[in-house]
Amino acid sequence: MTRPELRLSSSQLATNIEAVRERIAPSALMLVMKDDAYGHGITWTVETAERAGVEWFGSYDVAGGLEIRRVLERPAHVFAWATSTDSEIDEALLQQIDLGVGTAEYLARIIARADILGIRARVHLKIDTGLHRNGILVEDWPSVMQIAREAEAHGAIELVGVWSHLAEASDPEDDDAQRLFLQAVQEAAESGPTPPWQHLTASAASWWRPELRGTLSRIGAFCYGIRSADGPDLEGVRPVAELTATVIDRTEAGAVVAIGSFDGLPSTLAGMPVGTEHGVGTLSSIDLTTGVVSGVELSIGDRVWCFGAGVHGEETATTLAERIGTVGEEILTRLTARVRRVIVD
Ligand SMILES: *Cc1c(COP(=O)(O)O)cnc(C)c1O
Repeated sequence: MTRPELRLSSSQLATNIEAVRERIAPSALMLVMKDDAYGHGITWTVETAERAGVEWFGSYDVAGGLEIRRVLERPAHVFAWATSTDSEIDEALLQQIDLGVGTAEYLARIIARADILGIRARVHLKIDTGLHRNGILVEDWPSVMQIAREAEAHGAIELVGVWSHLAEASDPEDDDAQRLFLQAVQEAAESGPTPPWQHLTASAASWWRPELRGTLSRIGAFCYGIRSADGPDLEGVRPVAELTATVIDRTEAGAVVAIGSFDGLPSTLAGMPVGTEHGVGTLSSIDLTTGVVSGVELSIGDRVWCFGAGVHGEETATTLAERIGTVGEEILTRLTARVRRVIVD
């Protein structure tokens, strides 16, 4: 079998989750799983996270939320924040998926579906705090809140959360966003019970800006051990996945390895270092399904590490990403189905 492997460490994922939880306590962790759990695969990630005691799972869309729900063995919160169709709303209600709501129109449709099905929807209302990307505008917040409270009174919904998303571009901007966020929470509290789940921060702000954390933190990248581009290493957190390929031939140019751009490895990464058991080499060219490693003596059947935790001299996904001006998540989520997901521990 010469396809590349994405080797997944369950123990490292559990270690990272624990490190993140300790760091953000008493804020609770919502493990974000968009893009098939950042390329790691929803099934393995949910199983491992559930064993590690994670109680909140975040999906971009309802379809992903349903997949999470199918894998979960115990009750847990599943949150999906993309504006969805009526039939998706129905499935979300039947499978007890919390819904993130950023428009009055979406709220109205959820209320209507909840009335028809006779199932109370768990709603987290999103306030726009400056990103202008799906969120209720500050000036519309009071009227939308009133609609939510009326729906709550007749049993269609329960307002369980208030949330927003930070730009994480600069601290002052994030501070401004938090002010709007806290004001929205306060207005919610003045119109009824305080929604218990208040969430604003993702990986970087949750880790580095404790004062911005709410009662819940939505974290993807850092749980998978993916540090921020241009950000420092994280104490106690290491990459969960390593990408490896096998040497299938030897030529004048070097060792031919079975990985290429068809597997999702960007050809613009040609020249990147790779780890081996005989020292660090260079992946000097990247073709469709093969690449050539030079600078180190390799035999057919040897393994090459394209990214990982650095044990064999390979770089992390984020360090590779920085070479081509992107983020570590992107390196992982681009990997195609040709890459076998293999659980190593
Ligand atoms: C992706 C995403 C997150 C998680 O971001 P990380 O930086 O990976 O932790 C949280 N919230 C929303 C709305 C997102 O889209």
